[in-house]
Amino acid sequence: MEERIATLRRILDESSYTVALCGSGMMEEGGYIGVKNPDKAYDIEKKYGYSPEEIFTSAFYNTRPKLFFDFYKQEMLNGGPEPTESETVLEKMEQDGKLQCIITSNIYELCQRSGCKNVIELHGSIYHNICQRCGREYPVEYIKQAHGIPVCEDCQIPIRPGLFFFREMADSQLVTQAVEEINRAEVLLLLGTNLNSEVFSHYIKYFQGKYLVIIHQRSHYLDDNADMVFIDQPKNILSRLGYL
Ligand SMILES: [Zn+2]
Repeated sequence: MEERIATLRRILDESSYTVALCGSGMMEEGGYIGVKNPDKAYDIEKKYGYSPEEIFTSAFYNTRPKLFFDFYKQEMLNGGPEPTESETVLEKMEQDGKLQCIITSNIYELCQRSGCKNVIELHGSIYHNICQRCGREYPVEYIKQAHGIPVCEDCQIPIRPGLFFFREMADSQLVTQAVEEINRAEVLLLLGTNLNSEVFSHYIKYFQGKYLVIIHQRSHYLDDNADMVFIDQPKNILSRLGYL
């Protein structure tokens, strides 16, 4: 194991351009299970009468905002993940010029809260909420503390969370940016995700670099297509690279 970690360190040190993809495993190690997790999705459907995929859509937000916000506040804003050693290492790597870009599917700004700068958020962020009529921005605390539906103080209409809903297309500019970064990468790190990822698989096919490395707690048969695989939580491997 030590030898493999040393090999990974050498690959990262020699890389001229490294990009990290951060998936749901990064939230899990930060203490939060995403609403699409099968067990959690089942509980949600029992509790609300609809699946997370049904509730977290623009149709639902527009037509049943009360239930939408009950779900959003209770299941997504309440007890979200905290950054771990993983993000601390990524921040240090970025500072040292060992990591050029982070592309994430998490909406909790885990990397930014640890100081990372160049982060592409494919699914948006819970911290940016706007009134779609007047453009006024609201902090996440305003959403959390609102009784029932959080509305714009000026316009009295529901505030739109700064996230992409399920089945909503990501911003095309973000998609282009992510593709360009991956295309440019010499080393691609898959952290808390794998080649089967619903979010990232479309992007990974643009990778033309030298090393594709997976660090994820669950193995998958597609792992064979990577150059290096560590079946573990990202923090357990990243913290042993010696960057801190
Ligand atoms: Zn407004």
